[in-house]
Amino acid sequence: MPEILEAEKARELIEARALGREIATVHAPDAWFLKRGLTPDAAVAALPGHRFTTARRRGKLLLLDTDANGPTLALHLGMSGRVVIDDEAAGDPLLYASNGDNPRWRRFGVTFTDGGSLYLRDPRRLGAAELDPDEDRLGVDAFSLRLPALRARVAKSRAPIKVLLMDQSRIAGLGNLLTDEILFRAGVDPARPANTLRDDEVRSLARAISTTLRVLKRRGGSHTGDHMPAREPGGHCPRDGAEMLRRTVGGRTTYSCPVHQL
Ligand SMILES: [Zn+2]
Repeated sequence: MPEILEAEKARELIEARALGREIATVHAPDAWFLKRGLTPDAAVAALPGHRFTTARRRGKLLLLDTDANGPTLALHLGMSGRVVIDDEAAGDPLLYASNGDNPRWRRFGVTFTDGGSLYLRDPRRLGAAELDPDEDRLGVDAFSLRLPALRARVAKSRAPIKVLLMDQSRIAGLGNLLTDEILFRAGVDPARPANTLRDDEVRSLARAISTTLRVLKRRGGSHTGDHMPAREPGGHCPRDGAEMLRRTVGGRTTYSCPVHQL
């Protein structure tokens, strides 16, 4: 499932390939895929004639600004979405091996006057497109999160720390795999109420967030964490050999080590 690292790859692809090209037509066959009041007619009317000028990202949300006071197009990758430009996709093809090229999966997109195209391909249809989104419904982007901001959020929350880290309105971008990897690296139990973390633990957590994002981005995505091999029933901690604990925390399947994650 796409998390912040996959969204960043898609952003980089858009930045490299889609900026400055004039939009000719809009492909919006699925009204359900359009969110927050956007209709196919409105999308078709708003974008042609404009060019994307910047590709931004906040958490997992892709933000494509347009020229001449045009709208900002927002794309959500959902559970299975990929950005495809001129038929080239961002991301690891192995990760999405089941994601073929059924034209029905092109839920939203634009063609350019030069003959190319940008599509959001989404087999599971849980992504979305909208115009001029309220970006502030999302919290601070996980790549920009620094210790003071993390400390403030942790102190105010009694939720399990994993739930806080995945709360997109507080910290934007972290999903299930990245969060488990971060807590594994920080040595913190995912179910600990956030406001019970000591300051040294919050510091470890801040370091683990930044290291995890940097290292896993280089390795190729959110599925490349150190604890991934242990993410199966009977899996053992790669650090100390303990049998991993499998629980549901915040509604998500969670793997953690009962020995070094306290
Ligand atoms: Zn361990």
